[in-house]
Amino acid sequence: AEVDAATPTSSTREPVAALLPVVGGDTTVPLVDGTSRTYANLDYAASAPALESVAARVTEVLPLYASVHRGAGYLSQVSTALYESARQSIARFVDARPDDVAIVTRNTTDSLNLLAGVVPAGGKVLVLDVEHHANLLPWVQASQRHGNTTTILPIGATVAATLDALRRELASQSYALLTITGASNVTGEALPVDEVVALAHAAGTRVAVDGAQLVPHRGFSLAATDADYVAFSGHKTYAPFGAGALVGRRDWLDTGTPYLAGGGAVRDVRADRTVWQPAPARHEAGSPNVIGAIALAEACDRLAALPAGALLAHEEALRARLVDGLGAIDGVEVARIWPDSTDPVGVLTFTVPGHDPGLVAAYLSAEHGIGVRDGRFCAHPLLAHLGSSGGAIRASVGVGTTSEAVDRLVEALRRYLTDGP
Ligand code: PLP
Repeated sequence: AEVDAATPTSSTREPVAALLPVVGGDTTVPLVDGTSRTYANLDYAASAPALESVAARVTEVLPLYASVHRGAGYLSQVSTALYESARQSIARFVDARPDDVAIVTRNTTDSLNLLAGVVPAGGKVLVLDVEHHANLLPWVQASQRHGNTTTILPIGATVAATLDALRRELASQSYALLTITGASNVTGEALPVDEVVALAHAAGTRVAVDGAQLVPHRGFSLAATDADYVAFSGHKTYAPFGAGALVGRRDWLDTGTPYLAGGGAVRDVRADRTVWQPAPARHEAGSPNVIGAIALAEACDRLAALPAGALLAHEEALRARLVDGLGAIDGVEVARIWPDSTDPVGVLTFTVPGHDPGLVAAYLSAEHGIGVRDGRFCAHPLLAHLGSSGGAIRASVGVGTTSEAVDRLVEALRRYLTDGP
C-alpha cells in the first residue's frame, strides 16, 4: 500500500511502545500456507494485551495475597493495604474528586449494571441509540425491574443536531441521568463530553460516561469534565480480564440497592434486618478480585506516567495511517457516525461492499496473521444506523501497535480485492 511519504518514521511515531511494552508483542501465529508470521494485533478495542509491568506486578504480589478486609494475619493486612491502594490508583487515574467513590467491578458492563441499580426510584434515564449494548441494556432492564423509565433517543445527522436533540429532550422532562459513550467502540467517535455535561447539568441531570474505549485510549478526568460517573474495563486498559471500575458521586452509591448481597457488604445482620455498609463495600460483596484490582492499578499508574500527549500522538498517527490507507482503496468504505465529529480514538470500522465481513476477517487472519474483529460489535442499533446490519470489520490500535501492522492490513485488503481470497 502507498502510505503518505510525509508520515514520520516509526522512531518518532511509536515511543509509547518502548515506554510501555506489552506481553506477547512478538507472538507469531500460523498462516494457512504452513508458514508463520508475527501477529498484527488490530483488535485492541476488544481486549488489549497486558503491559509487561502488569505481568511483573502480578508475579510480585501473587505470593502475598490473602483475604482482604477479613483476616488478622500479616498477609491479610498486606493484601488489604494493596487492594485499597489499588482503589486509590484507579480513582486517581480518572482524576476523581475528593468525595467520589471508586468501586472495583468486573468490567464496564458490570459497572453500568451496578449504576443502573442505584438510580433513585422513579428516576428517568436518557440514553442515545449509538451505545454499546453494555450502555443500553442495563438501563432498559432497570426500567423493567425498578419502575424507572429509560428513553432511547435517536442520534441526529450531525454532532450539532444530536446536541440540540439532547438539549430539547432534557428540557422536555426531568431526567435523573444521561448516560453516554466517551468513544464509540465502532467508529471511535463521540460527542464532546464537556458540552454534554454542561447541557445536562443545566437541566439538573447527572451524566455517566461509558469510558470502556475512551479511558484506555485517552484517559479521563472526572474533575475536569465534571461528569458524575465513569465506567471502564481492565482488559481494555492493559490489565487482565476480570477487573473494572465505576468511579463517581458517592450519594446514590452510598444509599442505593447493594449490587450483590453477601458478606463484606454489610455492617450488621439479624434475622429481621440487615444494615448495609456505605460504598464501596456496599457493592463489593464476596471476596474481591484482589490481584485483578492490583493489576489494573499498575496499568493505570503506568499509563498516567506516560509523557503528556505521547499516547494521543501515537494513536492519532496510527489512525490517520489507517484512514489514509483504507480510504485509498477502491471498494473499502470507512464508517462514520457524524460528518462533524472531531478527535476520534484509535478505533475504526469499515466495510468491503459485496463481501462478507466474516470471510474478509478470516482471510486477513489466515493469510496475513492480522487480528481484526468482524460482526456487529455489540452495537446493533448503531450498525443499523450505519447501514451495516449485515456486519462490518473493525480495526483498533493501542500502545503496542506498529505502523507495520497498519500497512499490512492495508496491503492485505488491496490484495484481497485484486487477487481474491
Ligand atoms: N462499552 C464500550 C464502548 C465497549 O467498547 C465495551 C466493550 O467492547 C463495553 C462497553 C463493555 O465492556 P466489557 O465487555 O469489558 O464489559
